[in-house]
Amino acid sequence: MTRKPFNPVDDVIIKNLQAYFGKERVFVDQAILEDYGKDHTEDLVFAPAVVLKPLDTAEVSWIMKFALEAHIPVVPVGARTGLSGGILNIHRGIALSLEKLNKVIHIDEQNLQVVVEPGVITQVLQEQVAAKGLFYPVDPSSRGSCFIGGNVAENAGGARAVKYGVTKDYVLNLEVVLANGDIIWTGANTLKNATGYNLTQLMVGSEGTLGVVTKIVLRLLPSNSHQVLMLVPFYKMEQAAEAVSAIFRAGVIPSALEFMERDAIDWSLRFVADQSLVIKEGIEAQLLIEVDGNYPDVLFSEAEKIAAVLEQFEIDEILFADTEDQKNALWKLRRSVAEAVKAHAVYKEEDTVVPRFELPKLLKGIKQIGDKYGFKSICYGHAGDGNLHVNIIKGNKSEEHWNSEIPKGIREIFELTVGLKGTISGEHGIGYVQKNYMDIPFSAIELELMKGIKKVFDPTGILNPAKIFPDN
Ligand SMILES: Cc1cc2nc3c(=O)[nH]c(=O)nc-3n(C[C@H](O)[C@H](O)[C@H](O)COP(=O)(O)OP(=O)(O)OC[C@H]3O[C@@H](n4cnc5c(N)ncnc54)[C@H](O)[C@@H]3O)c2cc1C
Repeated sequence: MTRKPFNPVDDVIIKNLQAYFGKERVFVDQAILEDYGKDHTEDLVFAPAVVLKPLDTAEVSWIMKFALEAHIPVVPVGARTGLSGGILNIHRGIALSLEKLNKVIHIDEQNLQVVVEPGVITQVLQEQVAAKGLFYPVDPSSRGSCFIGGNVAENAGGARAVKYGVTKDYVLNLEVVLANGDIIWTGANTLKNATGYNLTQLMVGSEGTLGVVTKIVLRLLPSNSHQVLMLVPFYKMEQAAEAVSAIFRAGVIPSALEFMERDAIDWSLRFVADQSLVIKEGIEAQLLIEVDGNYPDVLFSEAEKIAAVLEQFEIDEILFADTEDQKNALWKLRRSVAEAVKAHAVYKEEDTVVPRFELPKLLKGIKQIGDKYGFKSICYGHAGDGNLHVNIIKGNKSEEHWNSEIPKGIREIFELTVGLKGTISGEHGIGYVQKNYMDIPFSAIELELMKGIKKVFDPTGILNPAKIFPDN
C-alpha cells in the first residue's frame, strides 16, 4: 500500500497537544514511552513519541482529528498483553491509551446485557456481572490483566471458547471513533440484526486498524453453578491430541479442553512454585478437561462418559479436582504457562488452529519441522478448539539463525496448518509479527479486498500502520 510518509512528532505537535490536554496529560518521559512501546510479544520494543490517555469519547475524537490533520500515526493501546505486537509503535507516533475509559456503564439485568468502556479489565467485568448472577464466559488466560477493548480488537478466545464461543459471539454493538474523528455506533443492542453490512463484526478483530472502540455492548448468560474439572496424564503426546476429538464424538461438549505438553506443565509448575502436583516419569502431555452446568448429576455422568472415552488411550490415573482450591490451583497452572515460558526463555509464539480432528497431524508435523530447523517447541493451548500455541524457544541459537532460519520453519508450520484447512491465528491476531505470512491463508485477491476495506475506513493510513498487511 502506498502512503504519504508520516510527519514526525516534533516540538510544535507536542505544544499543540499540551495546549489541549495540559502539560501533565501529555506523556513524553522516556521510561513511559518504552513501557507503551512493548506488549508480551517476544522482546520487541517500538516506543511511541508521545502517550495520551483520553478520558472520554470526545477526547478520543479530538485526538483522531488532530492526528489526521497533522498526518501522524495513532496506535490504540489496551493493557499491552497482546502476543502479536499489535501495540508496537513502528512509526513513532501517538500511543492512544484507553486505560482511563474504564467504567462498567450499565449492567442491564432485564436484557442480560452490559455496556462497558474498553479499558475495563476482563476479570473485573466478569466479577461485576457475576455479582448479579450473570456470566460473561470469554476467558482468556490473561483475563486478570487484559482489557475488554483489547479482547474486542483481537477477537480474543480462551479456555471456554470450546463451549461458549469467542468475543465476537458476545459483541452486539460498538461505539467507534473513526480515523477522521467521527463517532459511530456499528449496530443495535439486539440479539438479531439483519440490517445492512455487519459493521460490528467487521470491527471485532480489526486490531485497532479500522477505528478506536470506545464503548462495547455485550450479551451475557445466566451463571452456571457447578463445574467438574479433571487433569488427565497421557503417556503419548499424540494420543492426548487424538483424545480431544474422540470426546466430542462421544456426545459431550466440555466447557474447557486444554492441552499441555510435558515441558509446558513442568515450566509452569516451577513458575507458580506453590503446587504439590507431581507429574510421573514418562508422561508426555496432559489434558485439562472441564464440564459445567447447573445439575451435578448431569455433570458427573458427562465426566464418566469422558473417562470411558479415555480408557482407549495410554493414560495414568485421572486427577479430579474436588475442592474450589484444587480447581483454582489447576487453572492457575494452565493460565501461567505463557508467563512461565516468557520468564524462562526468549521465544516466538505462533497461534495455530485447525479443525480439531487434525490436531494430532498438526502436533506431529510441528515436531518434525522443529527437528528439521533445529528448534525446540513447547506446545499447549485450547485443544478443544483445535487451537495450539507453539512456543519456539531461542535457546543458544545465534541472532542470525533466529532471524533467518526460524522464520522458514514458521512458514512451514503455517503451510501445514493451512493445508489441514486451518489458519495462522486462532485468537492472538496478526499484528506486526505474523503479517509476512498473510500470503499463506489468503490469495492476492482476498488480501486486496481487505486492503480496500482498510482504505475506506482509514484513507490516509494513520490508524495502527505496519500491522496485518506486509506492505503498509
Ligand atoms: C499470559 C497471557 C495469556 C494470554 N492468553 C490468551 C488467551 O487465552 N486467549 C486470547 O485470545 N488471548 C490471550 N492472550 C493475548 C492477549 O491477552 C489478548 O490478545 C488480549 O485480547 C489483548 O488485550 P489488551 O487489552 O492487552 O490489548 P493490547 O495488547 O493493548 O492491544 C491489542 C490490539 O488491540 C488494539 N486495541 C486495543 N484496545 C483497542 C480499542 N479500544 N480500540 C481499537 N483497538 C484497540 C491495539 O491497537 C492492538 O492492535 C494472552 C496474553 C498473555 C500475556
